[in-house]
Amino acid sequence: MGRLVALSGWGVKGPACFLVEVEGRRLLLDLGEGPDAGRRPDLAGVGAVDAILISHGHADHVGALDLAPQVGDPPIYATAPVRALGDARLKGARDLPFGGATRIAGLEIETGPAGHAPGAVWMRIGGPQGLVYTGDYSAESALFPCVPPLPAAALVCDASYGDAEEPLDRQIVELVERARRRPLLLPAPPAGRALEMALAFQRAGVPVALCAATRAVARAMTEYPAAAVPALRDWPAELLATTEELTADSRPAGAMIVAGAQAERGLSAELTQRFAASGEADIVFTGHVAEGSAAERLMAAGHATVRRWNVHPTAGGLRALVAAVRPGAMLPAFLPQARIGAVPPLFPGLSLATERPGFSW
Ligand SMILES: [Zn+2]
Repeated sequence: MGRLVALSGWGVKGPACFLVEVEGRRLLLDLGEGPDAGRRPDLAGVGAVDAILISHGHADHVGALDLAPQVGDPPIYATAPVRALGDARLKGARDLPFGGATRIAGLEIETGPAGHAPGAVWMRIGGPQGLVYTGDYSAESALFPCVPPLPAAALVCDASYGDAEEPLDRQIVELVERARRRPLLLPAPPAGRALEMALAFQRAGVPVALCAATRAVARAMTEYPAAAVPALRDWPAELLATTEELTADSRPAGAMIVAGAQAERGLSAELTQRFAASGEADIVFTGHVAEGSAAERLMAAGHATVRRWNVHPTAGGLRALVAAVRPGAMLPAFLPQARIGAVPPLFPGLSLATERPGFSW
C-alpha cells in the first residue's frame, strides 16, 4: 500500500527525517538536526512533498526545517504546544491535533499523545492499512500524557534504547538518593525531561531550582493544560510558585536543573565549569552525550557522569508498542547500526528493517 524511506534516523542516533508515500501522496515526517553536531538529512533527489508533519519540537526532529525549500516548501503541521514552544518556523505551522483525526493532503491522519515532551504525538497515516510513526515516545513519563498508537500495517518505532530493560522508576530512586547526599547539577532539555525531573525530585522532597529557560517552558505549559496528564494540569503553575530560579551564582543545593543538555553555552556552560572547578555539586548528564560536545569533554576529564533518565521506550515499552500497533513490518529508528541486532530477538516473526533504511508494505 505504501513505501517508507528513512532519509535519516535509521542505523544511527541521528536526526529524524522519514519519507512516507501512501495513496500517491508524499509526506515528510520530521526534519531534524543533530544531536551530534552538524548531522542533517540529505534531501537531494527527494523532490517535492505534500506536507511536513512534526512529531515534537526537539532539535533532532525540527532543527533542519530551513531545508524545507528543497522539498517544495510544503505546509508544516505541528501541535499547539509544539508551535508555542518552537521558533518562528514552527509558530507559522498549521495545526496538527494533539490527539484526534484530521486530513492532510487528502490523507487520513490520526494522532495521540506520545509522552516524551510537551505536545509530542505519534501519528497514523492512511488508516489501519497505513503507517504509524511514533516520533520519540515514552509511556513512563509521570507528566506528559501517553496513549498507545492505533493498529497499522507498518510501524516506524522509536527504538533509541534497543533492548535496554531498566525502568525509569529505578533511575529516579538512584538520582534522588544521590541528590540527598550531594547537590546535583542536571543539564537537560527544557521542553522535555527537565520538567519531569523537577516533578520527581519535588515529590521526593528534594529542593528544586530551575533556570529561566526551563521556567519559561513551565509557564508555556500553563497555557496548554492538556500537555500535562489530567492530575497535573495545575502543577506547572505550582512549580513556578514553589521553586527558586537557578542563576550563575546560586548556592549549590538539591536538584539544580539547567537547560542545555550538552553544556555548550549559556548558564549550562557557566554552571558546569563552576562546579567542575569547585566540586560543590556533582554534574550528571541524563541523556545522549553528543560527539564533540562540552558534555563529552567534561565526561572525559572526570568532571561529570551519565545516569540515564528514560525518555524513550525500554524493551518492555517496545513490546507494548508492537502489541498495540500489530504491524506487518517495522523500522527500528534512532538505534546505532552496531546495536540494531538487539531488536529482532524481541519480535520473532516480525519483518524488521534492520538491513536497509526502509520498506514497502
Ligand atoms: Zn525528542
